[in-house]
Amino acid sequence: MAKELTSRETDYAKWYNDLVIKADLAENSGVRGCMVIKPYGYSIWEKIQAELDRKFKETGHVNAYFPLFIPKSYLSKEAAHVEGFAKECAVVTHYRLKNSPDKKGVVVDEEAKLEEELIVRPTSETIIWDTYKNWIQSYRDLPLLINQWANVVRWEMRTRLFLRTAEFLWQEGHTAHATREEAIAEAEQMLNVYADFVENFMAIPVIKGVKSPNERFAGAEETYCIEAMMQDGKALQAGTSHFLGQNFAKAFDVKFANREGREEYVWATSWGVSTRLIGALIMTHSDDNGLVLPPKLAPIQVVIVPIYRGKEDFENVDVVARGIFENLKKAGITVKYDDRDTHKPGWKFNEYELKGVPIRIAIGPKDVENNQVEIARRDTLQKFTVSQIGLTDYIKILLEEIQQNIFEKARKFRDSMITRADTWDEFVQILETKGGFISAHWDGTPETEEKIKELTKATIRCIPLDAQPEEGKCILTGKPSSKRVFFARAY
Ligand code: AMP
Repeated sequence: MAKELTSRETDYAKWYNDLVIKADLAENSGVRGCMVIKPYGYSIWEKIQAELDRKFKETGHVNAYFPLFIPKSYLSKEAAHVEGFAKECAVVTHYRLKNSPDKKGVVVDEEAKLEEELIVRPTSETIIWDTYKNWIQSYRDLPLLINQWANVVRWEMRTRLFLRTAEFLWQEGHTAHATREEAIAEAEQMLNVYADFVENFMAIPVIKGVKSPNERFAGAEETYCIEAMMQDGKALQAGTSHFLGQNFAKAFDVKFANREGREEYVWATSWGVSTRLIGALIMTHSDDNGLVLPPKLAPIQVVIVPIYRGKEDFENVDVVARGIFENLKKAGITVKYDDRDTHKPGWKFNEYELKGVPIRIAIGPKDVENNQVEIARRDTLQKFTVSQIGLTDYIKILLEEIQQNIFEKARKFRDSMITRADTWDEFVQILETKGGFISAHWDGTPETEEKIKELTKATIRCIPLDAQPEEGKCILTGKPSSKRVFFARAY
């Protein structure tokens, strides 16, 4: 089965799509740009949710839920915000259908036209700040630290499973603060929460940075982001955290009385990650045999496959395999014992390889005799025999080692994909031959960034937070620049 995957070398885009479908993560639906997330894919999302939710609560946030629909007038209250999202809004205009005149179908009932059209939320700042107006009066009501798990709709023209869909699942944090400093600290804290999660849980190395004005969230004063590098040399924005200044407080008239009794506008942040993270996961680690999942995120961490010929063989193997299964389970490892007699071991091996299960344990009559098992690592594709004695501890350590190895491999690759360019020719040549992040000087103007994008399709992915001051000349215009930024072609 795994053999049917197109190789990355042959056609990276097709490899990705094939993999999503064949590993049973998601599929296209009858609705343009919208996907069906299948149980295996959804269980990965649930693991992402569980860990992030834990981290959000640990940092003082609580969950709430706001409406799916946003009155059109709300969206237009913040000028930059509506300007940014207007191009991709789904709009509800009617609330009823009726039989068509020929009775063969239904049509919109023109008499049931909404007085005010509703936008299916592309993001919830407006509806939330309209609500916060009623919740915030005094400094005692602050900070307000709320997160929502939801779906949003952005009418994307070019969609790809997980990476960019018209409807996607995400979380959006929306916080309110008494001071500018506190709001900035919150936006930075959440960027660090994301980076920590993506690196230590998903094993995806990221660059932390801020966006250039062109790439900034519509309505934000500053957009912080984490950027990851995919195996084909394209970058992927894995998460964003915005410092919104007082823009939404002003648009929705949200003021609070400070300690001195003076009225002030509230300071805001918002931050989100989406099902795109699953796309990042696939494109960072997987290979031509299928998915490679980091143990912390794998819905199944260990699978046990019994190898046997007849009934007697099976019974001997089954007792031992079951014992191993119980021990691993007791140790808190997510383990599956696949004793189905409807599929051959070879089929199962391929299947679990395709699905990225980190460790496979095979056990046959010979292994029972010799008190051993055969282990196969998904990340390195190595196979070896180990003793059944101390197996649980061995597996625990091996899972940690795999997690670490997957991250290190990705980090090495990512580091090898950061190249400096000091001339325009170099810049273009790197883009055409190697791709990846290009560290280069930029004169700081939106016009230059736009021009570079037009010429090369590369955008400024971020201005790295750890960028050192360095005098240089803009790669395109030769004008002075004080630090390097990261360019890349991106998803
Ligand atoms: P934003 O609100 O634009 O800052 O986006 C929040 C998060 O959602 C970021 O991590 C984006 O990369 C991600 N995202 C934006 N658009 C899409 C989309 N069409 N499909 C999936 N994820 C998206």
